Amino acid sequence: MGLYYPGEGGSVIPMNESSDLSAGKLSIVGTPIGNLGDLSFRALWNLKECTVIYAEDTRVISKLLTHYGLHKSLQRLDAATEVKKAKEVCERIEAGEHVVYVSDAGTPGISDPGARLVAYVRAHMPEAIIEAIPGPSALTAALSIAGVDAPTFTFSGFAPHKKGRQTFIKELAKSDIPVVLYESPHRIQKLLSELDAVGVKKISIGRELTKLHEEMLVGTPKELSESLKKRKAERGEFVVIVEP
Ligand code: SAM
Repeated sequence: MGLYYPGEGGSVIPMNESSDLSAGKLSIVGTPIGNLGDLSFRALWNLKECTVIYAEDTRVISKLLTHYGLHKSLQRLDAATEVKKAKEVCERIEAGEHVVYVSDAGTPGISDPGARLVAYVRAHMPEAIIEAIPGPSALTAALSIAGVDAPTFTFSGFAPHKKGRQTFIKELAKSDIPVVLYESPHRIQKLLSELDAVGVKKISIGRELTKLHEEMLVGTPKELSESLKKRKAERGEFVVIVEP
């Protein structure tokens, strides 16, 4: 007999066997990148039914849980404690607990902690169920509205802050497929001037995706730098797509 959870309009949706919530397991849950309404039904179900939530930052996830009226046991597991806490997670799975992992926003493991936790659990408990509860990511959100024809692309995450940055920028300018980057508000102008300096002609910037001031800008690095400056729009979160 499978488990069921309620679907829209009172219908029931069967969950697959690995979704037996009474067994010990680890669920890697994607969370919104801004708009709290983007939490999937399955993600909500897992957050509600799990034994414990390990979070990159418990304060960030608390806001999401409060929004959905959930009160759960929270533990911190960030980049600095990932391996140490992974041991604890294994012990919980062994004891039959359902452990959820969430990063601050989007998909764990995508420029966020999560991968080392999963690798540790796989290595130490090969029989453990590790389940993906997919959700939003700034990477896919940006590509979905950029209008960039990208059957293949490179995702480079954040550019190195110091060492190797110049080489990194020069290399991405030579790419013959689009390159997707994440950038912080503190360094967006620096990145744009560096892209201009190596001759990049066309980029798209996804800013504040899924939020009130979401925008997708297309132009040369210089044009977009001026646009952000003029509109005082350098705050927020950015995905930059560099076209070949
Ligand atoms: N795990 C996340 C994901 O799946 O997208 C990424 C986490 S990474 C630490 C944070 C970076 O993602 C931000 O600095 C920004 O570059 C990008 N990002 C996150 N949310 C965003 C949003 N709403 N709009 C644009 N970029 C965003």
